[in-house]
Amino acid sequence: MIEVKDLSKSFGDHEVLRKIDFEVKKGEVICILGSSGSGKSTLLRCVNKLETQTSGQVLYHGKEIRNVQKEINEFRSRVGMVFQSFNLFNNMTVLENCMEGARKVLHVSKEEAFDRAIKHLKEVGMAPYINARPEQLSGGQKQRVAIARGLCMNPEVLLFDEPTSALDPEMVGEVLNVMKELASSGLTMLIVTHEMDFAKNVSSRVLFMDKGYVVEDAPPEEFFTNPKNDRSREFLSRFI
Ligand code: ATP
Ligand code: MG
Repeated sequence: MIEVKDLSKSFGDHEVLRKIDFEVKKGEVICILGSSGSGKSTLLRCVNKLETQTSGQVLYHGKEIRNVQKEINEFRSRVGMVFQSFNLFNNMTVLENCMEGARKVLHVSKEEAFDRAIKHLKEVGMAPYINARPEQLSGGQKQRVAIARGLCMNPEVLLFDEPTSALDPEMVGEVLNVMKELASSGLTMLIVTHEMDFAKNVSSRVLFMDKGYVVEDAPPEEFFTNPKNDRSREFLSRFI
C-alpha cells in the first residue's frame, strides 16, 4: 500500500536517509528500530510528507503524492501520525480533540464525528473522560486520546513515532496494550519504538536503521534470534 523507493534525504550536506527501499502491505505492523540519530523520525516524516525527500519516491497505492497541499492533506487523512508528545489541542476537550479532524478535514457531519469519537475513545478506554481537557490527564491517557483522535480519521495506516518514550514507566503498558489491540484488529501500522518486547511480540516485520540506511528488514523471529548485521547485533546486545 505504501512503497518507499530509493529514498534519500539530506539536510544541507548531511545525508540523513540513504537509498531506502521498503514496502508496507495491508495489515502489516512494522517496527522501526535503531539508535538515536539513525534517521527513524526523518523516515516517518518523509513517509507522512511532513518532510520532502531529496530524491526517491513515496508511492501510495502505486501513486506518487505530489507536493500539492490538497493531495497532501488527503494523503495525511489516510496515513495518520501519532507523536511522542501527543500534540493534543490543549484548549479543547477530549471529545472536541477527537471530532476536530473529521469535521474540519473530512467534513463529516457533527453526528458522524461524534459517533466516531465515542467509538474510538471506548476502544482506548477513554470514554469516561470525554469532557476532560488534556491538562487534566496523565501522559498515558493523553497518548490514548491521541491514538483515538488518529483513528477518528479512519486511516488506512497509522504511523507512530516513539509513542511511549515521553511516558512515565507505569503508563507505557496501557498505551502498548492499546496498540497491540489495534494490531490484532488488522490496522496497518509503522512504529518507531525502543520497546523491544513489543517489537518482538507484536510486529510482523522489523526494519533496523543505522546511519540513514535500513540495514536489516526481517521478521522479528529472525531479527531477534539471528540478526544478520554487525550493527544490529551490537544494538540488540544493549537490551539483554
Ligand atoms: P532519535 O532516536 O533520537 O529520535 P532518530 O533516529 O529519530 O533519532 P532523526 O531525528 O531522524 O533520528 O535524525 C537523524 C539525523 O538528522 C540527526 O543527525 C539529526 O540531527 C538530523 N536532523 C533531523 N531533522 C533535522 C532538521 N530539521 N534539520 C537538520 N538536521 C536534522
Ligand atoms: Mg526520532
